[in-house]
Amino acid sequence: MAKLFRTAIMGPPGSGKGTISKRIAQNFGLQYLSSGHFLREGIAANTDAGVLVKGYVERSMLVPDHLMSRLMLPRLEQLTGHSWLLDGFPRTIAQAKALNDIFQMDLVISLNIPFETLRERVSDRWIHPASGRVYNMGFNPPQVQGRDDVTGEPLIQHADDRPEALQARLRHYKDVAKPVMNLYKCLRQEKRITQQRRSSKQTAWFPVQRHPVPVLGYRHRPHLALHQLSSQH
Ligand code: AMP
Repeated sequence: MAKLFRTAIMGPPGSGKGTISKRIAQNFGLQYLSSGHFLREGIAANTDAGVLVKGYVERSMLVPDHLMSRLMLPRLEQLTGHSWLLDGFPRTIAQAKALNDIFQMDLVISLNIPFETLRERVSDRWIHPASGRVYNMGFNPPQVQGRDDVTGEPLIQHADDRPEALQARLRHYKDVAKPVMNLYKCLRQEKRITQQRRSSKQTAWFPVQRHPVPVLGYRHRPHLALHQLSSQH
């Protein structure tokens, strides 16, 4: 049987984490699991869990760890026999430890993007609040300006996507993410990806295949190819 591959991606607001992870999942045949998507699904369906998490998600605050673990871990346990990529989970050290108690990760990717690039991307970002679909007026605009492609509903811009708020969000992200990355570094599962050149075009740097970066433990597609990126430990 082919080796299963279990990976997670972490990145600050505006890093393009969602877009990149969907491409990786598609290219490498991994099941794509987004914690934000599951939360929004529960909120839209008004489930018990959805009611509990609504206030946090609407204010872009971290949902408490025990709720996140209860949401994510049973799903993963059902996916025995599948390779997967997690987008948005684990986000905190408590979540990473809870995950690590059950699964050994093959790789954790952390995106490391210059502040200026994040600022540009975030200020151009519009979202469809109900689904969480994200558009970027620069490189991923909606078909009709200001409207969601699927529902046609209006797009909104978050107040916390303003540059002043972005600084604070980045600081918060770093504080929370650092212990998680340290854990995976200790476990030798973290690979940091640094975007060196400023670019607001994600398609310009992923997933064009130029500089192959070895992916630990992945036998069938031994290289995750990243363009204009360097990997560091
Ligand atoms: P995302 O789609 O990953 O940007 O997540 C949207 C929102 O869901 C976040 O702003 C948080 O409120 C919440 N969220 C998603 N994943 C997590 C997580 N692992 N831990 C806590 N809150 C989360």
